[in-house]
Amino acid sequence: MPAAPGGPRLLLRRLREAMAEPVSPQARLDRIVTLIAANVIAEVCSVYVLSNDNILELFATEGLNREAVHLTRMRSDEGLVGLIAQTAEPLSLSDAQSHPAFSYRPETGEEAYHAFLGVPLLRAGNTLGVLVVQNKTYRVYSEEEIEALQTTAMVLSEMIASGELQALAPGSGPATRRAVSQRGVALADGIGLGHVVLHEPRIVIKQLIAENVDREVERLELAIGEVRSAIDDLVERGDSIGTGESREVLETVRMFAHDKGWLRRMREAVQSGLTAEAAVERVQSDNRARMMRQSDPYLRDRLHDLDDLANRLLRTLIGHEGNGERVLPENAILVARSMGPAALLDYDRAKLRGVVLEEGGPTSHIAIVARALGIPAVGEIANATALCDAGDAIIVDGATGEIQVRPGPEIEAAYGEMVRVRAKRQEQYRALRDQPAVTRDGVAIGLQLNAGLLIDLAHLAETGAEGVGLFRTELQFMVAQRMPSAAEQQTLYEAVFAATGDLPVTVRTLDIGGDKILPYMPALEEENPALGWRAIRIGLDRPALLRVQLRALLKAAGGRPLKIMFPMVATVDEFTRAKAIVEREMAHLRRHGHPLPSVCRLGVMVEVPSLLFQIDEIARAADFLSVGSNDLMQFLFAVDRENRRVAGRFDTLSVPALRAFRLIAERAAAAGCPATVCGEIGGKPLEAMALIGLGFRHLSMSPAAIGPVKAMVLNLDASAVADLIETEMARAGDGESLRPALSAFAKAHGVPI
Ligand code: PEP
Ligand code: MG
Repeated sequence: MPAAPGGPRLLLRRLREAMAEPVSPQARLDRIVTLIAANVIAEVCSVYVLSNDNILELFATEGLNREAVHLTRMRSDEGLVGLIAQTAEPLSLSDAQSHPAFSYRPETGEEAYHAFLGVPLLRAGNTLGVLVVQNKTYRVYSEEEIEALQTTAMVLSEMIASGELQALAPGSGPATRRAVSQRGVALADGIGLGHVVLHEPRIVIKQLIAENVDREVERLELAIGEVRSAIDDLVERGDSIGTGESREVLETVRMFAHDKGWLRRMREAVQSGLTAEAAVERVQSDNRARMMRQSDPYLRDRLHDLDDLANRLLRTLIGHEGNGERVLPENAILVARSMGPAALLDYDRAKLRGVVLEEGGPTSHIAIVARALGIPAVGEIANATALCDAGDAIIVDGATGEIQVRPGPEIEAAYGEMVRVRAKRQEQYRALRDQPAVTRDGVAIGLQLNAGLLIDLAHLAETGAEGVGLFRTELQFMVAQRMPSAAEQQTLYEAVFAATGDLPVTVRTLDIGGDKILPYMPALEEENPALGWRAIRIGLDRPALLRVQLRALLKAAGGRPLKIMFPMVATVDEFTRAKAIVEREMAHLRRHGHPLPSVCRLGVMVEVPSLLFQIDEIARAADFLSVGSNDLMQFLFAVDRENRRVAGRFDTLSVPALRAFRLIAERAAAAGCPATVCGEIGGKPLEAMALIGLGFRHLSMSPAAIGPVKAMVLNLDASAVADLIETEMARAGDGESLRPALSAFAKAHGVPI
């Protein structure tokens, strides 16, 4: 086999010179393919670029007919070149023509060639094109040659990504600039049009080709050593990487940091002539390309761990790039892999138009905060951070869970229209603000807000809500850097009461545990955190925490009425014990001469199914009930509320769910105990209509839901929907959903849903 003259290092040096020459992009590309062909001793070297209409176009060739350049175009799944683009893997064949995917293009004159080696042109794991070398003989390319070609490919990828080649194929930009539409899950309603801001800005590699290979090897080794010891320190301290990552993640990152294969590949990339940072990037881009094509969620998570590690290495090599104050452009859409609620709150809200995450379920905290801020948000967009570049135009549709990256003018116009229609609808809702929510047959429905942060309370005046039906106190704890002190808690509650004035507020005691983790509290290793030590269970087992919170609340509410409710109560006894703690605190404050709330009502969240079988007792014991349908449905149907794979397996309007709701409404009414629904379903007009039909008269929901639900109430005949539900429930078979019947009813009666 012929040895490459000078090897990859010489080639890279030549490429560097070629990149610096003041010639046209086409002349540069022609020079590059000639250099590569000469270096690897191939008769042919060709570059195919993937365009934004998914076509692989021959952009330059040494050895094939030159007339075929910009003429030979094939679909991205066509031929051997298409196969490489699809798999993002190198392909080496001693006889290309006998491969089933070989597609013959007479204009190229490639029938004379047998051996074929192609590698993908990758950037951040995305395929931008394919680089091919061919030989007349039936030769086998060595591992070193494949490696060298991949290194060379990186230089070409950067050239494509820089947009330099765009002028060569008018009308079709390179694939990275392609319009992309992706669907994830809707996290926070609303439509946002703006430009991408990467939450973690991509690290820009300014120099790809090494000037001194030995020095680059040294830099890489030093950086690896530094990163390893930093991770070891973190693991030993049992610390988190800042954003609350668990020990388990750290251990995995540590394992990768010692992975021999990974280190070897980076060393080889440096040996072949890349700078240390370019080598890290190259190896990570290959990893990304491979793992992105995996559907296994476990492997995708490992990709994140590897990304973390590669980014740490890059930051060590290049240094932190001004991680200070981020100045947002107007109409910023944040794109992140994941983000905590505190990070979101750090941004200038006035400029934020949307949030796109690779992770994040609908009931995650970031979703709750985005909803509170009124920022459209979408989660579970695979690979979002690699898909977008800073500054790209992007649209976030928080209603459907879709994003449009670099949208064409028609898409942009369609969304612009949608925004106008929505704004008009919002105006109509605002017009309903001061109108009482009373059905056509005179039934008053109390519509209240769910809130958790002070900023939420501005929505009270905006929406005309009658009060706060659920104040989630854990949000203050979740966005804090450390446990809020008694004084800090009291200050927050005082501010809440000041903002709500005479309107009633129902405050829920700390609902932490399960998925609601406090970054400063040691994480518990639990097999089933949703069923574990959480909410009132922590409050009863560690009463100090609960007592501090209750005292802060009682003091803050001095002189005004107060409603407190307890989350995740599973037995009447738990409520009785919680109530005793409140009474003890009241007695303590009374003894010390503090003003007490004028009236203090104690309620229970009905969200553990065991309460359905103690419903009469709990309705007698508590001053009020509030149905936490998010958890109640999760436990009733054994369907994890965070797990999208099982989310569609049951319907909240199916007969078993409706029977549970009906039981609560009927028994609470019989005991004279007011009952509210404060889970997400209360904010959906069709579901809210069903709840009214079942007898609920109080609903608490996110601010954006008040308008649509009120519009529904104003057009509803409560007794008619009650009759319909009664008949349908009697008729329906087990498990059947009443959704179609309820939708038909709404349509027939002109009820907007
Ligand atoms: C619920 O479970 O329905 C609820 C309102 O509480 P959270 O969503 O905070 O668990
Ligand atoms: Mg709950």
